[in-house]
Amino acid sequence: MNGTRRVRGGHGAAKLRRLLGFGLGLAGLWAKAAAQERLELVWPTPSRTWAEGKPAAEWLQHAGSGDPQSGAFGGVRSGGTQFHEGIDIRPVGRDRKGAPTDPVFAVLPGVVRHVAGAPSGGYGRYVVLEHPGATPAVYSLYAHLASIAPGLRPGRTVAAGATLGIMGHSAGGYRIPPDRAHLHFEIGVMVSRDFQSWYERKKFGSRNEQGVWNGMNLLGLDPQALFDDWRARRITTLQEAFARQETVVRLRIATVRTPDFVTRYPSLLTKPLPLGPVAGWEIRFNWTGLPFAWTPLTGLETIGLAAGVPRIAEVNAEVERRQRSKSLAVQRGGMWTVGRDLEPVLQLLFGLR
Ligand SMILES: [Zn+2]
Repeated sequence: MNGTRRVRGGHGAAKLRRLLGFGLGLAGLWAKAAAQERLELVWPTPSRTWAEGKPAAEWLQHAGSGDPQSGAFGGVRSGGTQFHEGIDIRPVGRDRKGAPTDPVFAVLPGVVRHVAGAPSGGYGRYVVLEHPGATPAVYSLYAHLASIAPGLRPGRTVAAGATLGIMGHSAGGYRIPPDRAHLHFEIGVMVSRDFQSWYERKKFGSRNEQGVWNGMNLLGLDPQALFDDWRARRITTLQEAFARQETVVRLRIATVRTPDFVTRYPSLLTKPLPLGPVAGWEIRFNWTGLPFAWTPLTGLETIGLAAGVPRIAEVNAEVERRQRSKSLAVQRGGMWTVGRDLEPVLQLLFGLR
């Protein structure tokens, strides 16, 4: 800024004041934009328990064991071997027959992407929203509903707090008893738009009725941590929630492919994409296998890497501690290799077989 150095006295001072004023004006606008960007989350049920800051045990619905923690996010079931990708929120209202009366609310403004009006898969009757106004543009998912709000169809926009349906206990393939009716709530990212071709190659023996909104194609953040961090102002945006994730596995892969994940969530890039093609990626995964930071690699940086073969560069001690709920990396002959829960994610991201 050579110009500012030449500002001296009289006319110059006026110019400086104008410049300062202009600068402050910009700063004001910027602050306003930043303030507007602050995440405004709506709790997805009428329960006031979380808002009142009461212990999570008072709003979590247990999964049959009686332990409220079995309704929390993570490896909370079957001795830690069963991963729960969301939180289970119990109802606060019941009708004379004992059915929940709680409406279920959109946590952010969004667009309806999927409505399963008939119970299908483990989610039962469920709704998925996408939140294009958020960065990254996460999805949120509301499962086990008794009914879907009339007129709720894919493509419709909804306001934060809009009613999506009524809480229930619908499920596919297993039964949730009415006394354990709850909302299963998830928030996270979609792995691949090309999920169907991966699903067909895997020959699961059943039709994929959920399209790209199949649970196998979704990676959740811990909603409880997200809501708590937001309330405590540890985060003001979703981007900060992703930035807070801890690296548990860092790996590199040589490929010219830019996964649709990256184009869908460009804010997870640690630097801009090169003008030419990429030669590979360095990806950081959190403890649940969510790829939260992406660095494009140059040709030089991929020397020694076999094309399409992920190589683990770093593993955090958490990987052993969490091994039972999600196996991201395992040691074989003194080398770290991709674990059973990271493998499908990499296959989906890069079209690997
Ligand atoms: Zn659940």
